[in-house]
Amino acid sequence: MKITIIYDNKVYKKELEADWGFSCLVEVENTPRILFDTGTNGRILLRNMEKLNIDPNSIDEVFISHSHLDHTGGLSDFLKLNKEVKVYVPISFRRPLNAKEVVSVKESLQIHENVFSTGELSRIEQSLVVKEEKGLIVIAGCSHPGVGSILNADSQFGKVYALIGGLHGFREFDVVKDLELICPTHCTQYQSEIKSLYPDKYVEGGAGRIIKL
Ligand SMILES: [Zn+2]
Ligand SMILES: [Zn+2]
Repeated sequence: MKITIIYDNKVYKKELEADWGFSCLVEVENTPRILFDTGTNGRILLRNMEKLNIDPNSIDEVFISHSHLDHTGGLSDFLKLNKEVKVYVPISFRRPLNAKEVVSVKESLQIHENVFSTGELSRIEQSLVVKEEKGLIVIAGCSHPGVGSILNADSQFGKVYALIGGLHGFREFDVVKDLELICPTHCTQYQSEIKSLYPDKYVEGGAGRIIKL
């Protein structure tokens, strides 16, 4: 599988634009192409997509982690270009969307053969889970429910291999010691602590970063 970070607080490729928010493209073999979150600003989202050669019309589904503007701000501009998508939102997300189909997710859910949602945790946020041979790859928006409870919810699908996304104020660093890869990005406050504790697992984020697993 392949994850391309489109929108992030910092850039990995300097021709892209950094802005507070998060979005990435999730490509899994024989599975619809999923846009995970949409950043804050639709213009920046679409410009970064263009520079990464990602055609908005090539996207089949949008997965929204939670309703905060830094994850949903680009959604309406994206839907103006491609409304033929299925959008997965957590059940607490109540805004009407101009999309082909909207799925409100409450409990954990199998979206495709190897793709799952944790369901909405702590009444705020869902995470996307991809099952690969090595284990589970978990993509989180801000991790408001707490990294511990997200990983706990993931364990119903298998063993977690990698965690990618915003980890907010996460500092119970022991919780991630068994993971093989961690890419703390977006709102993660303790990035340098995580990097110095787990230099072998740590992968730099930033817009333009491509992670193949
Ligand atoms: Zn955020
Ligand atoms: Zn948030």
